[in-house]
Amino acid sequence: MSKVHITQCLCPNRHCIAALAWEEPDFTSESAIAKLRDTINEAVSNNIIHHRCAICQSTDLSYEDGITRFECLREAMDDIAAVQVENLRTKRMLDVLKN
Ligand SMILES: [Zn+2]
Repeated sequence: MSKVHITQCLCPNRHCIAALAWEEPDFTSESAIAKLRDTINEAVSNNIIHHRCAICQSTDLSYEDGITRFECLREAMDDIAAVQVENLRTKRMLDVLKN
């Protein structure tokens, strides 16, 4: 049975810098971490994001993969969209506080 994974780039306080939701067999835990790391490195190189946590400013970032309760991405999409809305709301608040 396939499971939906969530691979995250986290600071030591477990603030999520970026995440990748995926289902088997699209990736393995190792290839998902490599994909997320490459995507973040490219975004840093293009000055889209900084290589640090926007909340606590830590640059000690790590990657981890976990299995969700979902069996397919379609089933997980409503929850993923809700988290994305909350994360964008938090980003806007941090942007306002910075300026
Ligand atoms: Zn943090």
